[in-house]
Amino acid sequence: NERIVGWNFDHSYATLPQVFFSTAALNPVRVPELILLNQSLASSLGLDAEALQKDAEIFAGNKAPEGALPLAQAYAGHQFGHFTMLGDGRAILLGEQITPRGERFDIALKGSGRTPYSRGGDGRAALGPMLREYIISESMHALGIPTTRSLAVVTTGEMVIRETDLPGAIVTRVAKSHIRVGTFQYAARWGSKEDLRTLADYTLQRHFPQVALDENRYLSLLKEVINRQASLIAKWQLVGFIHGVMNTDNMTISGETIDYGPCAFMDTYHLETVFSSIDQQGRYAYGNQPRIAGWNLARFAEALLQLLHENESEAVEVAQEAISQFPEIYRNDWLAGMRAKIGLFHAEAGDESLIESLLYMMQKYQADYNNTFRALTLGQLEELAFYGKPEWDQWIQEWQKRLEREQASKSDSQQLMRNHNPAIIPRNHRVEEALKSAMRGDLSVMNKLLEALSNPYAYTVGQATYCSLPDPSSPPYQTFC
Ligand code: AMP
Ligand code: MG
Ligand code: MG
Repeated sequence: NERIVGWNFDHSYATLPQVFFSTAALNPVRVPELILLNQSLASSLGLDAEALQKDAEIFAGNKAPEGALPLAQAYAGHQFGHFTMLGDGRAILLGEQITPRGERFDIALKGSGRTPYSRGGDGRAALGPMLREYIISESMHALGIPTTRSLAVVTTGEMVIRETDLPGAIVTRVAKSHIRVGTFQYAARWGSKEDLRTLADYTLQRHFPQVALDENRYLSLLKEVINRQASLIAKWQLVGFIHGVMNTDNMTISGETIDYGPCAFMDTYHLETVFSSIDQQGRYAYGNQPRIAGWNLARFAEALLQLLHENESEAVEVAQEAISQFPEIYRNDWLAGMRAKIGLFHAEAGDESLIESLLYMMQKYQADYNNTFRALTLGQLEELAFYGKPEWDQWIQEWQKRLEREQASKSDSQQLMRNHNPAIIPRNHRVEEALKSAMRGDLSVMNKLLEALSNPYAYTVGQATYCSLPDPSSPPYQTFC
């Protein structure tokens, strides 16, 4: 009985004009089997985790949960710089779960089969990438980074045909919404001005009610999204997260990280780090992410132009003015985060160059990014890749002097560093190891990894084992969509 489970769906997105979605049929799979269920997330959604254990059929799209209204969303996007029509080609939205606290979350199945927006493709997904989305999105959440989350993974009992045949799977994704920059691009390109306005007003109500009554509420919308994305990308940079495919259809308006495809965490610090096999030009390299976010936001501003001002050149002017603020907003967010990573509570003019010198050493001596901050946090300085180098001797003196100018005590600074430097990130070789075991039917390695990742600032003994670097003789890590 689904009543016990606690589904409590609303369908506000379906009140938008028909151009924004298509109702979608469920595509049943042969043998659904629930292999992962996120119990704490289920509870926070007001769902009974124990009852859900029996609901593989719901997570597989074999059966609709009570009150669901499956639909696929329309959107467009710039993929590697090229504009194209997209839409949910392998995902469906079941509805918006209203939690006991009154919050609204999209519940969507990814890998659930073809929809009216599928061009090529089978609409399906392979087990490895769906488990990977689960591990990395949940790790991001635990790191305190806004993200969509993963409620469940089911295997389908069917194979998907890729380079080789792979077991099929579906992940249930939970998001503040799936409205993207690409949703606005779609509205501006294929909808009427009224459609665009309706989408913008809907988005304001759903995500930015505090500015929905502003005099120029669409400019406020643009500015709010700029702020949220600046804050999000700063958080990515601070932990060394590389999204891998920052197309405009993969940038949410809510400010959550979305679409875990070829993403990965950086080991050795280098601005040009790229893991994605399809990113040949390094468009989405680590060091490019802030600039790409700015580019994507400019596409968002363009999509909003008609609403920003009746006069087109005035509209362009206010849009450009807002967009021009992004680099500084981003930089300030990043700098604030970096200060905390080296134990500084208050700001001084020289902080930026102190931080840049540290990063310079890391790049020069090929230091591991997160382990460097971990070693600084724990005071295990001999472990640093540049320990004893002339640059280091100078840097630590400056850092010590800078710390002495803090009002806060040394132990407060240490605590600040612990709260901002994760003791564990999902290292690529550990994620791969977990996936390999899972593919053989042994989920224990993954469950242990998930447990360790769930509290990344705890600095437990168990987490230390996850800090080891990949075997230097192993080939460079590559990710695939
Ligand atoms: P992504 O790169 O994951 O953001 O996907 C870009 C577009 O390709 C989206 O419209 C997806 O729905 C679509 N897509 C990706 N994989 C498949 C698939 N296996 N079958 C159908 N459509 C797909
Ligand atoms: Mg996508
Ligand atoms: Mg994807």
